[in-house]
Amino acid sequence: MGLHTILGQEHALTLLRQALTSSRLGHAYLFYGPSGVGKKLTALRFAQALACPYATPEACDSCTTCHKMRTGNYPDLICLGPEGTSIRIEHIRAMQRQLGYKPYESQRTTVLVDGCEALTPPAANALLKTLEEPPASALLLLITGKKDALPLTIISRCQQIPFRPLAAAHLQAILTAQGLDQATATIAATLAEGRLDTWKQADIPQALARRRDAYTLLQNRGHVHNTPLFLLARQWANSREQCEEILHWLMLFCRDLVMLKVVSTATLYNHDLQAELAHLASSLTVDGLLDLFSSLGQLQHYLTMNVNPQLTFEQLVIQLQQQLGTAPSS
Ligand SMILES: [Zn+2]
Repeated sequence: MGLHTILGQEHALTLLRQALTSSRLGHAYLFYGPSGVGKKLTALRFAQALACPYATPEACDSCTTCHKMRTGNYPDLICLGPEGTSIRIEHIRAMQRQLGYKPYESQRTTVLVDGCEALTPPAANALLKTLEEPPASALLLLITGKKDALPLTIISRCQQIPFRPLAAAHLQAILTAQGLDQATATIAATLAEGRLDTWKQADIPQALARRRDAYTLLQNRGHVHNTPLFLLARQWANSREQCEEILHWLMLFCRDLVMLKVVSTATLYNHDLQAELAHLASSLTVDGLLDLFSSLGQLQHYLTMNVNPQLTFEQLVIQLQQQLGTAPSS
Protein backbone atom coordinates (compact mmCIF):
# COMPACT_ATOMS: atom_id res chain seq x y z
CA MET A 1 0.00 0.00 0.00
CA GLY A 2 1.51 3.32 -1.05
CA LEU A 3 1.52 6.73 0.55
CA HIS A 4 -1.28 7.76 -1.83
CA THR A 5 -3.75 5.67 0.18
CA ILE A 6 -3.21 7.83 3.29
CA LEU A 7 -6.23 10.13 3.62
CA GLY A 8 -6.43 13.67 4.95
CA GLN A 9 -2.70 14.38 5.54
CA GLU A 10 -1.77 16.19 2.32
CA HIS A 11 0.77 18.50 3.97
CA ALA A 12 2.67 15.63 5.60
CA LEU A 13 2.59 13.65 2.33
CA THR A 14 3.92 16.60 0.34
CA LEU A 15 6.90 16.92 2.69
CA LEU A 16 7.57 13.18 2.58
CA ARG A 17 7.32 13.01 -1.23
CA GLN A 18 9.81 15.88 -1.43
CA ALA A 19 12.12 13.87 0.83
CA LEU A 20 11.70 10.75 -1.36
CA THR A 21 12.62 12.60 -4.56
CA SER A 22 15.37 14.71 -3.02
CA SER A 23 19.00 13.64 -3.24
CA ARG A 24 19.47 14.71 0.39
CA LEU A 25 17.35 12.57 2.67
CA GLY A 26 17.42 13.73 6.31
CA HIS A 27 18.69 11.46 9.11
CA ALA A 28 15.69 11.99 11.37
CA TYR A 29 12.03 12.90 10.94
CA LEU A 30 9.51 13.67 13.67
CA PHE A 31 5.92 12.65 12.86
CA TYR A 32 3.74 14.59 15.30
CA GLY A 33 0.04 15.34 15.75
CA PRO A 34 -3.02 13.89 17.50
CA SER A 35 -3.23 10.14 18.08
CA GLY A 36 -5.28 8.04 15.67
CA VAL A 37 -4.69 10.11 12.53
CA GLY A 38 -2.27 7.82 10.67
CA LYS A 39 1.24 8.85 11.79
CA LYS A 40 2.61 5.34 12.31
CA LEU A 41 0.99 3.99 9.14
CA THR A 42 2.49 6.88 7.17
CA ALA A 43 5.94 6.34 8.71
CA LEU A 44 5.79 2.65 7.74
CA ARG A 45 4.74 3.51 4.18
CA PHE A 46 7.54 6.10 3.97
CA ALA A 47 10.04 3.47 5.13
CA GLN A 48 8.63 1.03 2.56
CA ALA A 49 8.93 3.59 -0.25
CA LEU A 50 12.59 4.12 0.72
CA ALA A 51 13.32 0.40 0.86
CA CYS A 52 11.49 -0.77 -2.27
CA PRO A 53 14.03 -1.20 -5.14
CA TYR A 54 11.27 -0.45 -7.68
CA ALA A 55 9.93 2.73 -6.02
CA THR A 56 8.71 5.51 -8.34
CA PRO A 57 8.97 7.18 -5.64
CA GLU A 58 5.98 5.23 -4.20
CA ALA A 59 6.69 1.64 -3.22
CA CYS A 60 5.70 -0.93 -5.87
CA ASP A 61 3.88 -2.97 -3.20
CA SER A 62 4.51 -6.25 -5.01
CA CYS A 63 8.23 -7.03 -4.67
CA THR A 64 9.85 -9.22 -1.99
CA THR A 65 11.01 -6.15 -0.03
CA CYS A 66 7.50 -4.66 0.01
CA HIS A 67 6.07 -8.02 1.10
CA LYS A 68 8.59 -8.26 3.96
CA MET A 69 7.79 -4.67 4.98
CA ARG A 70 4.05 -5.32 5.03
CA THR A 71 4.40 -8.49 7.07
CA GLY A 72 6.89 -7.00 9.54
CA ASN A 73 9.75 -9.25 8.41
CA TYR A 74 12.10 -6.71 6.87
CA PRO A 75 15.48 -7.06 8.61
CA ASP A 76 16.55 -3.43 8.10
CA LEU A 77 13.58 -1.96 9.95
CA ILE A 78 13.72 -1.69 13.75
CA CYS A 79 10.44 -0.80 15.48
CA LEU A 80 10.45 0.49 19.05
CA GLY A 81 7.58 1.58 21.25
CA PRO A 82 6.61 1.82 24.91
CA GLU A 83 6.77 -1.41 26.89
CA GLY A 84 4.31 -0.82 29.67
CA THR A 85 4.26 2.92 30.02
CA SER A 86 7.79 3.84 28.98
CA ILE A 87 10.62 3.41 26.50
CA ARG A 88 13.64 2.69 28.66
CA ILE A 89 17.35 3.23 28.07
CA GLU A 90 18.04 -0.49 27.54
CA HIS A 91 15.70 -0.43 24.51
CA ILE A 92 17.58 2.52 23.03
CA ARG A 93 20.96 0.88 23.72
CA ALA A 94 19.83 -2.36 22.04
CA MET A 95 18.78 -0.32 19.01
CA GLN A 96 22.14 1.50 19.00
CA ARG A 97 23.99 -1.84 19.03
CA GLN A 98 21.98 -2.93 15.98
CA LEU A 99 22.83 0.32 14.21
CA GLY A 100 26.49 -0.58 14.77
CA TYR A 101 26.10 -3.40 12.19
CA LYS A 102 25.73 -2.90 8.45
CA PRO A 103 22.19 -3.17 7.07
CA TYR A 104 21.37 -6.73 5.90
CA GLU A 105 19.54 -6.16 2.64
CA SER A 106 19.80 -2.50 1.77
CA GLN A 107 21.85 0.67 2.16
CA ARG A 108 19.93 1.83 5.19
CA THR A 109 18.61 0.74 8.58
CA THR A 110 15.38 2.52 9.46
CA VAL A 111 14.46 2.93 13.13
CA LEU A 112 10.85 3.70 13.94
CA VAL A 113 10.26 4.94 17.51
CA ASP A 114 6.53 5.13 18.21
CA GLY A 115 5.23 7.00 21.28
CA CYS A 116 8.41 9.06 21.81
CA GLU A 117 6.74 10.99 24.64
CA ALA A 118 7.18 7.78 26.67
CA LEU A 119 11.00 7.97 26.54
CA THR A 120 12.42 8.09 30.07
CA PRO A 121 14.91 10.98 30.56
CA PRO A 122 17.95 8.60 30.35
CA ALA A 123 16.46 6.98 27.22
CA ALA A 124 15.86 10.40 25.64
CA ASN A 125 19.48 11.37 26.40
CA ALA A 126 20.76 8.17 24.83
CA LEU A 127 18.59 8.71 21.74
CA LEU A 128 19.87 12.26 21.50
CA LYS A 129 23.42 10.88 21.08
CA THR A 130 22.28 8.92 17.99
CA LEU A 131 20.47 11.99 16.65
CA GLU A 132 23.60 14.11 17.14
CA GLU A 133 25.93 11.63 15.48
CA PRO A 134 23.84 9.26 13.40
CA PRO A 135 25.60 6.41 11.56
CA ALA A 136 25.57 7.21 7.81
CA SER A 137 23.30 4.25 7.12
CA ALA A 138 20.69 5.16 9.79
CA LEU A 139 17.31 6.81 9.32
CA LEU A 140 15.25 7.62 12.43
CA LEU A 141 11.49 8.09 12.24
CA LEU A 142 10.17 9.38 15.57
CA ILE A 143 6.43 9.43 16.23
CA THR A 144 4.61 11.31 18.96
CA GLY A 145 1.10 12.39 19.90
CA LYS A 146 2.57 14.80 22.47
CA LYS A 147 5.32 16.83 20.87
CA ASP A 148 5.31 19.27 23.82
CA ALA A 149 6.45 16.43 26.10
CA LEU A 150 9.67 15.89 24.09
CA PRO A 151 12.95 17.61 24.95
CA LEU A 152 13.64 20.53 22.59
CA THR A 153 17.07 19.04 21.91
CA ILE A 154 15.37 16.01 20.29
CA ILE A 155 12.78 18.06 18.37
CA SER A 156 15.42 20.40 16.93
CA ARG A 157 17.44 17.49 15.51
CA CYS A 158 14.53 16.22 13.41
CA GLN A 159 12.74 17.40 10.30
CA GLN A 160 9.14 18.09 11.29
CA ILE A 161 6.23 16.24 9.68
CA PRO A 162 2.96 17.64 11.08
CA PHE A 163 -0.28 15.62 11.15
CA ARG A 164 -3.76 17.07 11.63
CA PRO A 165 -7.10 15.75 12.90
CA LEU A 166 -8.94 13.95 10.11
CA ALA A 167 -11.94 15.54 8.40
CA ALA A 168 -15.22 13.75 9.11
CA ALA A 169 -15.51 12.78 5.42
CA HIS A 170 -12.10 11.06 5.54
CA LEU A 171 -12.96 9.29 8.78
CA GLN A 172 -16.20 8.08 7.20
CA ALA A 173 -14.34 6.77 4.14
CA ILE A 174 -11.77 4.94 6.30
CA LEU A 175 -14.41 3.42 8.59
CA THR A 176 -16.60 2.34 5.67
CA ALA A 177 -13.54 0.73 4.06
CA GLN A 178 -13.02 -1.12 7.36
CA GLY A 179 -16.50 -2.64 6.98
CA LEU A 180 -18.70 -0.31 9.06
CA ASP A 181 -22.19 0.34 7.67
CA GLN A 182 -22.78 3.89 6.44
CA ALA A 183 -25.01 5.10 9.30
CA THR A 184 -22.58 3.82 11.96
CA ALA A 185 -19.59 5.26 10.05
CA THR A 186 -21.35 8.65 9.88
CA ILE A 187 -22.06 8.69 13.61
CA ALA A 188 -18.60 7.39 14.48
CA ALA A 189 -16.89 9.99 12.25
CA THR A 190 -18.92 12.79 13.79
CA LEU A 191 -18.16 11.71 17.35
CA ALA A 192 -14.52 10.84 16.79
CA GLU A 193 -13.23 14.44 16.80
CA GLY A 194 -10.90 13.79 13.91
CA ARG A 195 -9.26 10.68 15.36
CA LEU A 196 -9.64 7.02 14.50
CA ASP A 197 -8.82 5.82 18.01
CA THR A 198 -11.70 7.57 19.81
CA TRP A 199 -14.92 6.42 18.16
CA LYS A 200 -14.84 2.92 19.67
CA GLN A 201 -15.38 4.48 23.11
CA ALA A 202 -18.54 6.22 21.86
CA ASP A 203 -22.00 4.73 22.45
CA ILE A 204 -23.04 4.46 18.78
CA PRO A 205 -26.62 3.11 19.31
CA GLN A 206 -27.34 5.93 21.79
CA ALA A 207 -25.86 8.53 19.42
CA LEU A 208 -28.00 7.15 16.56
CA ALA A 209 -31.09 7.46 18.77
CA ARG A 210 -30.23 11.04 19.80
CA ARG A 211 -29.64 12.00 16.18
CA ARG A 212 -33.01 10.54 15.27
CA ASP A 213 -34.59 12.55 18.14
CA ALA A 214 -32.98 15.75 16.88
CA TYR A 215 -34.18 15.02 13.35
CA THR A 216 -37.75 14.41 14.59
CA LEU A 217 -37.66 17.73 16.42
CA LEU A 218 -36.64 19.46 13.19
CA GLN A 219 -39.23 17.58 11.15
CA ASN A 220 -42.08 18.33 13.55
CA ARG A 221 -41.21 21.98 14.01
CA GLY A 222 -44.69 23.06 12.77
CA HIS A 223 -46.46 21.20 15.54
CA VAL A 224 -44.98 23.42 18.20
CA HIS A 225 -48.25 24.00 20.03
CA ASN A 226 -48.84 20.29 20.31
CA THR A 227 -48.36 19.13 23.85
CA PRO A 228 -46.54 15.92 22.78
CA LEU A 229 -43.57 17.87 21.39
CA PHE A 230 -43.19 19.80 24.63
CA LEU A 231 -43.48 16.54 26.57
CA LEU A 232 -40.80 15.08 24.34
CA ALA A 233 -38.64 18.14 24.95
CA ARG A 234 -39.03 17.60 28.70
CA GLN A 235 -38.14 13.96 28.34
CA TRP A 236 -34.96 14.88 26.44
CA ALA A 237 -34.22 17.62 28.90
CA ASN A 238 -33.80 15.17 31.77
CA SER A 239 -30.09 15.64 31.59
CA ARG A 240 -27.68 18.31 30.47
CA GLU A 241 -25.68 15.73 28.53
CA GLN A 242 -28.73 14.76 26.46
CA CYS A 243 -29.48 18.42 25.79
CA GLU A 244 -25.95 19.06 24.65
CA GLU A 245 -26.04 16.07 22.30
CA ILE A 246 -29.37 17.07 20.77
CA LEU A 247 -28.08 20.62 20.24
CA HIS A 248 -24.91 19.21 18.68
CA TRP A 249 -26.90 17.13 16.18
CA LEU A 250 -29.29 20.00 15.41
CA MET A 251 -26.30 22.20 14.58
CA LEU A 252 -24.86 19.52 12.27
CA PHE A 253 -28.28 19.14 10.59
CA CYS A 254 -28.49 22.92 10.18
CA ARG A 255 -25.03 22.97 8.61
CA ASP A 256 -25.97 20.12 6.25
CA LEU A 257 -29.28 21.77 5.28
CA VAL A 258 -27.58 25.10 4.49
CA MET A 259 -24.92 23.26 2.45
CA LEU A 260 -27.62 21.42 0.51
CA LYS A 261 -29.31 24.72 -0.33
CA VAL A 262 -26.20 26.62 -1.42
CA VAL A 263 -23.71 23.98 -2.70
CA SER A 264 -25.29 21.13 -4.58
CA THR A 265 -22.14 18.97 -4.39
CA ALA A 266 -21.54 19.54 -0.66
CA THR A 267 -20.21 16.70 1.49
CA LEU A 268 -22.65 16.23 4.35
CA TYR A 269 -21.88 15.20 7.91
CA ASN A 270 -25.07 13.14 7.82
CA HIS A 271 -24.22 11.65 4.47
CA ASP A 272 -26.41 8.59 5.04
CA LEU A 273 -29.53 10.84 5.38
CA GLN A 274 -28.84 12.80 2.18
CA ALA A 275 -32.20 12.03 0.53
CA GLU A 276 -34.26 12.81 3.66
CA LEU A 277 -32.32 16.03 4.25
CA ALA A 278 -32.69 17.16 0.63
CA HIS A 279 -36.46 16.72 0.98
CA LEU A 280 -36.47 18.67 4.26
CA ALA A 281 -34.25 21.43 2.78
CA SER A 282 -36.79 22.10 0.05
CA SER A 283 -39.25 23.40 2.69
CA LEU A 284 -36.72 25.66 4.48
CA THR A 285 -35.00 28.98 3.78
CA VAL A 286 -31.27 29.70 4.15
CA ASP A 287 -32.03 32.74 6.34
CA GLY A 288 -34.23 30.71 8.68
CA LEU A 289 -31.53 28.03 8.98
CA LEU A 290 -28.77 30.57 9.67
CA ASP A 291 -30.93 32.21 12.37
CA LEU A 292 -31.57 28.83 13.91
CA PHE A 293 -27.85 28.01 13.82
CA SER A 294 -27.07 31.16 15.74
CA SER A 295 -29.88 30.48 18.26
CA LEU A 296 -28.57 26.94 18.79
CA GLY A 297 -25.14 28.40 19.56
CA GLN A 298 -26.76 30.71 22.10
CA LEU A 299 -28.63 27.81 23.73
CA GLN A 300 -25.36 25.88 23.98
CA HIS A 301 -23.91 28.90 25.76
CA TYR A 302 -26.88 29.04 28.17
CA LEU A 303 -26.32 25.40 29.07
CA THR A 304 -22.71 26.13 30.00
CA MET A 305 -24.07 28.85 32.30
CA ASN A 306 -26.19 26.32 34.20
CA VAL A 307 -29.50 27.36 32.72
CA ASN A 308 -32.27 24.81 33.35
CA PRO A 309 -32.20 22.24 30.48
CA GLN A 310 -36.01 22.05 30.35
CA LEU A 311 -36.32 25.81 29.84
CA THR A 312 -33.59 25.64 27.22
CA PHE A 313 -35.47 23.00 25.29
CA GLU A 314 -38.83 24.75 25.48
CA GLN A 315 -37.13 27.86 24.15
CA LEU A 316 -35.61 25.75 21.37
CA VAL A 317 -39.00 24.36 20.33
CA ILE A 318 -40.40 27.90 20.13
CA GLN A 319 -37.42 29.11 18.10
CA LEU A 320 -37.71 26.19 15.73
CA GLN A 321 -41.18 27.35 14.80
CA GLN A 322 -40.29 31.03 14.61
CA GLN A 323 -37.18 30.56 12.51
CA LEU A 324 -38.14 27.66 10.30
CA GLY A 325 -41.87 28.28 9.92
CA THR A 326 -44.53 25.66 9.73
CA ALA A 327 -43.71 22.17 8.56
CA PRO A 328 -45.41 21.11 5.35
CA SER A 329 -48.55 19.08 5.99
CA SER A 330 -47.20 16.09 3.98
ZN1 LIG B 1 8.41 -2.93 -3.83
